[in-house]
Amino acid sequence: MSANPLWSTGIAGLSPYTPGEQPAIEGLIKLNTNEHPHGPSPAALAAIRAATDDALRLYPDPDARALKAEVARQHGLSVAQVFVGNGSDEVLAHAFRALLKHPRPILFPDVSYSFYPVYAELFGIEVERVPLAEDFSIDLAAYARPNGGIVLANPNAPTGRALSRAQIRALLQGNRASVVVIDEAYVDFGAESAVPLIAEFPNLLVVHTLSKSRALAGLRVGFAMGHPSLIEALERVKGCFNSYPLDRLAQAGALAALADVDWFERTRQQVVASRAVLSEGLQARGFEVLPSAANFVFARHPGWRGATLLAALRERRILVRQFDKPRISDFLRITVGTPEQVSALLNALDALLLPQA
Ligand SMILES: *Cc1c(COP(=O)(O)O)cnc(C)c1O
Repeated sequence: MSANPLWSTGIAGLSPYTPGEQPAIEGLIKLNTNEHPHGPSPAALAAIRAATDDALRLYPDPDARALKAEVARQHGLSVAQVFVGNGSDEVLAHAFRALLKHPRPILFPDVSYSFYPVYAELFGIEVERVPLAEDFSIDLAAYARPNGGIVLANPNAPTGRALSRAQIRALLQGNRASVVVIDEAYVDFGAESAVPLIAEFPNLLVVHTLSKSRALAGLRVGFAMGHPSLIEALERVKGCFNSYPLDRLAQAGALAALADVDWFERTRQQVVASRAVLSEGLQARGFEVLPSAANFVFARHPGWRGATLLAALRERRILVRQFDKPRISDFLRITVGTPEQVSALLNALDALLLPQA
């Protein structure tokens, strides 16, 4: 549909984020949106069921105090250092609005989470995209310049490459005058968290989600951790937008999911083990695979265009993701599935890649 004069000024010019497809195809192997291949913690499901009662008549706790207290406890923080929201996408949106709108442009990599430019455009924030190095790693030296803020996904998406905590500390030591947002959506699959740096750097905001490593993408819960003053700015924006971003079921489920440490440790180790099988299997089939610290791998084959391989796999009911963007259009981003899904993918690739006899 085209623009309508009834729309507010600026709406016609927005370019919204395109989420990965959620098609209803029978027997589909869905490796396109980095969902966790194993179901959520049974304790989380039980807590959601238990919260499904007459109390849904009542508004939820607007401050999600029990959930914030558990996040604070697990990370050695105070409740005043924790903000929760309806998925980390919403938390990031509030961070852009509350902390990143300044006269100077914000910095993020040319290849990163494609929601960042969308928020910047929505809130009228100037952006400078900093090219990744040739090997698709983040070139931190390039961030040593005046800026209105820095946003990095660690591990980065869609590359999967991670920065060490020492590298992030060095970045923060050289950048004290603006907020540094570290989006740790995938950190639990193998990167070092920046949370221990919060005590040292009042300009650091670390964002987490329950969508990936807690297998709760459908529940929509994310959180941010940082200095109480940064959290207060987020609370102010949230309080001007939606008092109840987390419903009763989400608060109950998230709390129980975080508390189920056994499930979390077991399933993330399963994902890490499957990632090794997937990476090695792809390399054995001629793919270049970037080193991944996430629950997906980013890989390209010298003999195939990304879009062609994507379509060929889709015909075999295997859905992966490809981005029509400069530098990365021949890469596929493949979510780490169950061992069965990984072998189905590798078998499909064998059928596609082997020369026809
Ligand atoms: C998936 C993802 C998110 C968003 O997660 P939700 O909590 O589901 O909104 C944020 N950042 C990155 C880099 C992601 O890949």
